Amino acid sequence: ATAPVITVDGPSGAGKGTLCKAMAEALQWHLLDSGAIYRVLALAALHHQVSIESEEALVPLAAHLDVRFVSQQGELQVILEGEEVTGEIRTQEVSNTASRVAAFPRVREALLRRQRAFRDEPGLIADGRDMGTVVFPDAPVKIFLDASPEERAQRRMLQLQESGFSVNFDRLLAEIKERDDRDRNRAIAPLVPAADALVLDSTQLSIEQVIDKALEYARTKL
Ligand code: C5P
Repeated sequence: ATAPVITVDGPSGAGKGTLCKAMAEALQWHLLDSGAIYRVLALAALHHQVSIESEEALVPLAAHLDVRFVSQQGELQVILEGEEVTGEIRTQEVSNTASRVAAFPRVREALLRRQRAFRDEPGLIADGRDMGTVVFPDAPVKIFLDASPEERAQRRMLQLQESGFSVNFDRLLAEIKERDDRDRNRAIAPLVPAADALVLDSTQLSIEQVIDKALEYARTKL
């Protein structure tokens, strides 16, 4: 059972989600949004008042997490314990909580098998922080998508404004940097490019350019 995998890792707001969706569509492959799993775990902890400081308490929650991903008109719906939480897992509170629970080694361990189960024919696009380094180290194609923190905060601000939220740029930038620092500096599965990853900096690129470069690279490797 070794369907090919294209891993896409990188910091938040670099454009991984958009890139992965486009590649999954172009190749007609499966898609794993691993961040959504950490987000759902964070939301479950908040709902069930499980302490997000307690690895002990989070591990069984992670092991038994009742999460499903349902494709609905090309959009991925996220279902936690039968309830649709697609929007709820994108709040700032859940983002910050997710990166805290994701720092616990045994929590990550408890979610490994679940993530690997997404690997299936004809292939998988895996979006995350440690897809190429830990979860799918044997993936034939690895991409690390980066962009400057300012550019990522700018993109996030526009996204939020389009959804009708008013946001403060400086606060957004500070939160992005804080979450990145936590992801990059944690002891386990830190955010770092795999040795054999193509590093793509999207700061000066349009999303179309990023998609073209990534697909072109993938085709040389598959
Ligand atoms: O990618 P997204 O922003 O949805 O991820 C939310 C958080 O989940 C990240 O900040 C990171 O801490 C964690 N995460 C992780 N490993 C992954 C994907 C996400 O630690 N593979």
